Formats: sequence, C-alpha cells, structure tokens
Amino acid sequence: MKISEIMTDMDYGPAPEAQDIVQDWLGRHEAGFGHFIDGTFTGAGETFAVTNPATGGEIARVTQGTTADVDAAVAAARKAQPKWAGLQGHQRARHLYALARHVQQHARFLAVLESLDNGKPIRESRDADIPLVARHFYHHAGWAELVAEEFPDRQPWGVCGQIIPWNFPLLMLAWKVAPALAAGNTVVLKPAEYTPLTALAFAEIAAECGLPAGVLNIVTGDGATGAAIAGHDGVDKLAFTGSTEVGKILRRQTAGSGKGLTLELGGKSPFIVFEDADLDAAVEGVVDAIWFNQGQVCCAGSRVLVAEAIEARFTERLKARMARLTVGNPLDKNTDIGAIVHPVQRDRIAELVAQGRAEGAEIHQGAAPEGCFYPPTIITNAQPASVLSTEEIFGPVVTITPFRTPDDAVALANNTRYGLAASIWSEGITQALDIARQVKAGVIWVNGTNLFDAAAGFGGYRESGYGREGGREGMAAYMRSPARTGQETDLPALDPVPGGPTGAALDRTAKLFIGGKQARPDSGYVYQVNGAKGPIGLAALGSRKDIRNAVEAAAKASGWANTTGHQRAQILYYLGENLSARAEEFTARLTASGTKEKTARAEVEAAIARCFRYAAWADKFDGAVHNTVSGHVTLAMHEPLGVMGVVAPTEAPLAGLLSLMLPALAMGNRVVAVPSQTHPLSATDLYQVIETSDIPAGVVNIVTGPRDELARVLAQHDGVDALWYVGSARKQVEADSAGNLKQVWTEADGARDWAGSEGQSRDFLARATQVKNIWVPYGA
Ligand code: NDP
Repeated sequence: MKISEIMTDMDYGPAPEAQDIVQDWLGRHEAGFGHFIDGTFTGAGETFAVTNPATGGEIARVTQGTTADVDAAVAAARKAQPKWAGLQGHQRARHLYALARHVQQHARFLAVLESLDNGKPIRESRDADIPLVARHFYHHAGWAELVAEEFPDRQPWGVCGQIIPWNFPLLMLAWKVAPALAAGNTVVLKPAEYTPLTALAFAEIAAECGLPAGVLNIVTGDGATGAAIAGHDGVDKLAFTGSTEVGKILRRQTAGSGKGLTLELGGKSPFIVFEDADLDAAVEGVVDAIWFNQGQVCCAGSRVLVAEAIEARFTERLKARMARLTVGNPLDKNTDIGAIVHPVQRDRIAELVAQGRAEGAEIHQGAAPEGCFYPPTIITNAQPASVLSTEEIFGPVVTITPFRTPDDAVALANNTRYGLAASIWSEGITQALDIARQVKAGVIWVNGTNLFDAAAGFGGYRESGYGREGGREGMAAYMRSPARTGQETDLPALDPVPGGPTGAALDRTAKLFIGGKQARPDSGYVYQVNGAKGPIGLAALGSRKDIRNAVEAAAKASGWANTTGHQRAQILYYLGENLSARAEEFTARLTASGTKEKTARAEVEAAIARCFRYAAWADKFDGAVHNTVSGHVTLAMHEPLGVMGVVAPTEAPLAGLLSLMLPALAMGNRVVAVPSQTHPLSATDLYQVIETSDIPAGVVNIVTGPRDELARVLAQHDGVDALWYVGSARKQVEADSAGNLKQVWTEADGARDWAGSEGQSRDFLARATQVKNIWVPYGA
C-alpha cells in the first residue's frame, strides 16, 4: 500500500493491549475468588461466573455472598472502626496516599482488567477511569489530613455499606471508599455481579500497602447480597449508585433505621445546543456525552436538544461523525466503542429502540460486530412522550429534538423525572449561565460534558437521588452530627368537632393559612386545643385536600426562589420586627398553653432572634468555586430544594416551627408547615404577622391538624421536594418519601431544645439547599 493511500484512508491496523499480566493474575485465582474480609481473602464459596462481554468467555468465578458473609464483613468493619477513626488524620492520610500510589503503580494491570471485565475500551479505562481513581485517593488523603479542622462538629458514621454498579466498577469504588475512609469510617462494599474483579484486585492492593485489617471489606454477590448489606443492623450509613428503582427499594428498606443514605441514581440528561454554539465542538461533545463507555453512564447526554435553525446541519455532521466510530475489541487501542456489559443489557437497549421505532421514531445507526455490541445510534422524530425520550436507555443511543426558543429548551430539558446532569453549548456566556440556572440538575457543564473530578461534588436533583460524591459536600455525607435521641411516643388521635350547620364553631376557630389567605378546612371539622387548665380554643382539622391545596399554592409561588438573598433578608427582618411588636401577645398565648411565663418569654425572644439570624444568613450562605484539575471555574451553587414540607416539634410550638421554617425560607424554598398538633395556636397567631411582613402569597402555608396523617400526605406528595419531620412516625414518613425520592430529615420529638442554641445552625441551611456544580471553561 502506498503512503498516499494510507493518508487518504487513515485506516489503522489492530493495536491490541497486551493482557498477560491480567491472565497471570486470573490464573493464580483459577479456583475462584472468595470475599475480602478482615484483611484476608476467604475461601471461595458457592461461585458464579464472571464473563468477558466482548467474547462471552468465562474469565473468573466469584463467590455469591450469603448473609453470614455479610455478617462477618460487618463484624470485621465494626471491630476495626474505633481504631481507624482514632488514628490521627495524618495517619489515615498516609494510608490513602499509599492507596493512590499503589493504584498508579498497578495502573496498566487495573486498566486491562477493567476492560476485560466490563467491555469498556482500553483507551477509556487507561486514560479516564484509572487516573481518576488515583486522583480520588490523593484528593481524599488531603481530606483525611484536614477533616478534624474542617468539620469540627461532625463525626464519622461508623460502618458504611456501599453498593456499586457495573458501569465504572473501580471508579465507583474509589468515589465511595476514599471519602468514607478519609472521614474515619470503615467499609463493607459490594461490587456489581457483572464486574466484581477490579474491586477484588483493589482489595489485594489494599492488603499489599498495609491498610489495617477490617477497614475495607469486599463482599461479592448479586442484588440479594446488596439487600443484606442495606438491611444489616450493623451498617450505619448506606451509599448506593445504580438504578432509580433499586434506590427507591433502599429508601423504603432503610426507613426508620436512622441509617445515613445517599443515592446516586439514573438520569436522562439534556445536551442543549444553541444556534451560536461552536458546532464542531458540540458534535465532539455528543461523542463524549453518549458514546463514552457505550452510553452506560448515569449522566450520559442522551437527549440532544438543538436550536431549530441549526438542527439539520447539526444532525448531518453528527451522523457523519458517527459513521467514523470504531466499534469492537475493547482491548484495541483504536476502539471507540467497546462491548455492552452483558447480553441482558444489550437486549434491553435493543428492545427500547424497537419500541421507539414502533412509536414512530426514526433510527440511524452505525456498524457493530456480532456479539455483545450495540451500534452507535441517533434517533430523530421521537415524541416527548416516547420511551426513547423518557426512559434511561443506558446504551449508545441519543435522541435529537429541536427547540425554538430558550424557554422551550428549558421546558424540554426539565421534562423528566430525573435531574442528574446537563450540557449547555453556546458561545454566549450570558445565555449559557442563564440556562444553567434554570435547568434542574446537580451538575451542569458549559461547552463540555462528562467532566469529573474529586474536588467537585457529583449527584442529582429529583429522582436522580440525593447526596453528593466528591468535594466538600461529598465529605460531609460521610460524617454525621452527634446522634440525638428523643421520645418516640405517638400523639393521641384527635376528636373532630363538627363546624356545625352554620359553621359557628368554624367562625370562632383559627383557620388554615393557604396561598396568603385564611381558609376553612375542607373537612369542615375543628378540634379542641387544651392548655394547662382546660380548653383554650379550637383549631381547624386539616386533611389531605388542604395539604394538596397548600402544595399547589406553594408551587405557584416559585418566584420566591428567584428573589435575591437581600430581598429575602429584608422580609425576614420585617417578620422579626412585627413579631417583636406583638411579643406580649405571643407570650400570653404560650403561657395559656401551659408554658411557664419566663420560659414563654424566652421562647418568643428566641423566635424573634431566629428571624434576625436567618435574615442575616439569607445572603451569606455562599457556595464555592472548586479547584478542579481541568481549566474550569467549577461553581458550587446553593440552590433551594423547592416546595418543602415542615412538620414542627410538639413542644416549643413557636420557636420550633420558626426554627425549621426560617432557614427553609431564607434559602428560597416555599413551605407547607404543619404546626404542633398539641399547641397549634401560636402558629395560627402568626398568620397576621406573616400577612403584614410582605411575605408573598403561597410562600408560607400552614395546615393545622393530625400531625402524622398530614405528614404522610406531604411525604407521598410528588409536588413536595423535601420534608422535615419531627415526631414518632419517622419510619412511615421516610418510607412514603420514596415515591419521588424527596429529601427527608426526621428527628424524634424532644431530641433538641428548639428554643435554645440547638435550634439553629449552618446544618439547617445545608439541609435546605442542594448543590449545583456548574463547570465553566476558564482557560480550558
Ligand atoms: P441495579 O440498580 O440493579 O444495580 C446496582 C447495584 O445494586 C448492583 O450492585 C446490584 O447488584 C445491586 N442491587 C440490585 N438489587 C438490589 C437490592 N434490592 N438491594 C441492594 N442492592 C441491589 O442496576 P442494574 O445493574 O440492574 O441495571 C439496570 C438499569 O439501571 C440499567 O439499565 C440502567 O438504566 C440503570 N443503572 C444506572 C446506573 C447509574 O449509575 N445511575 C448504574 C447501573 C445501572 P447486582 O448487579 O450485582 O445484582
């Protein structure tokens, strides 16, 4: 062949990576792998086959973890934890640093093993996965060093259960193990059944570099093994990455257990291309967004939304680019797209595409060899309701949908139950950042995609889960505030008193406060409120319908999220001033409820002080600029959660309610509050104070009535984004929250002194916000 022909063709010969070191290692474990528990490998038990997806051949056998195995691993982790947490941060840092160094030393081995086990191209495991694994251990060696200084009020959870998926096996291990160990926790981790090998290799590396026995335990197995870890009483915190369906199961399973829970779940991330985008860069962006790792990426840009004016041009260029992708042997250094992890997954992709075709979508595909491969695929003409537009396909399949205006783009982008990531392509910084603010996602890349770094938090909004991995937020998730205990006794049932045919009782009764107006309860019933010496009034008996109305009113008041911190501060100061003007009245109300006068006075003073405190914070709870490795300004913005349910403590009815409502409001959330069931009247007295304080209608809504019944309605409501609950029905409330995976914070009644210093902290603000990480190129 002539050189000129080669230059025209640009065809490559095969360039396979050698796999002998991995074959030697696998040969040494031919008898099958056991688990890694308490610093050593157990003998192999009942094993299952691990296959190479590119060939279908068996490469190893690993043990199916039983509940006894999980018990042993948790016991080892428990035993090792106090000593590990008791090491100086510097000593833990040296262990993490050693892990990073050893990962680097074994980088080629780990990359080849990952590609053999998972099917991903060696170029990706070598240049993306493994370097990021090392980066995570280095970064978190730094956190181990600094943790005592940077998080002085927090402590490690104890034993962390970690369940990871198959798409980035070693990287997901690193994302979970590094922060857990840095914070002083010990770990029991289950890798995915399809891809357990790099976790086992990592366990060997950990032993080789002297990580103390029991600090890291790996138990292999399937979903049942994962469920045994999640349900184990000895596990204090659970971290999961995987499907939204399993995430919901785990939310229900851990409800009421007091376990910490972070969930990194699915996505259907938009990739938005504006008319002024650099089209070639955006086309290359799509290659990284959906064809990286065969599209088996939770934050894959699987929905391209493109400005109508450039749709045809963009689609043609993307098709031309797709035609040049090489699909095949993962170990070949020229391969762009490797094997799908398992035939089950390949068939699932094929089924979804067939379903989309039947719904009228047009399918454009590249070529792929026989076997467990799927061709790169572009879909046009998929309707917004098509399965291809809504379901997480987890394959190399992207839809292209045109939009007319930026508002259309935002509406389409947010038309999903997920909220993991988004890419925005525009040469106009104003436009890009304006859209970044409006898209509901935990990670936004401007003129880029699939950028990850240990210094930046990663995680989702909505049904993409909660909690962040990486950065300061990720470290915070592996530590807890000191545990609090309180009373777990249920409140007595309420006796409904009819409002009467004329509604006479209702006219004398404090009503509900919904959408800025006082409203009669839908039930028409009231209930008697007792003070120390007998009945002191009547309160409206709120029900499901009233909560729904309140949520609707709160949803309409979305403008509150866009007010500036300064504006919110002014309003909260005004609230404090108006409350202060009526301090005597509130003191009298609390005294009538049975509170001693001195205590009542102090509670009212505390409530006023809270207004000032959170007004102060409203424009000061800043985000951060993360120091990521690439040339980006990575902005960690604190955003409100949306509509929050707040179910207040029984005691300290005024200060307790305001201690929860005010941080939520200061951060831009709207609130539907259920005040103390026993002492609701100081909350109903607040209506007039709220009305005179310029709080826009719908921003605060108050529904009195049966606490737990109303709390469960809030927990089940898909229009509620987060719920704070103080009471005894924590288990039910947490389980009910699984429907839309709202963030829930529950505590027992009496677990803190709400009128005292425990009733306020920065932690309340952190809980009232979610972090959006926006990557903006800065010399990239
Ligand atoms: P799963 O959510 O089922 O698996 C993730 C992990 O959870 C695996 O280790 C799995 O075990 C384990 N697991 C499964 N069931 C339970 C359970 N009841 N309790 C505790 N742990 C459990 O994802 P799949 O692998 O089945 O993939 C299905 C779909 O999920 C994909 O097509 C994709 O759409 C999505 N997915 C999303 C990921 C993400 O990063 N967001 C990652 C992976 C999948 P094992 O696999 O060993 O049986």
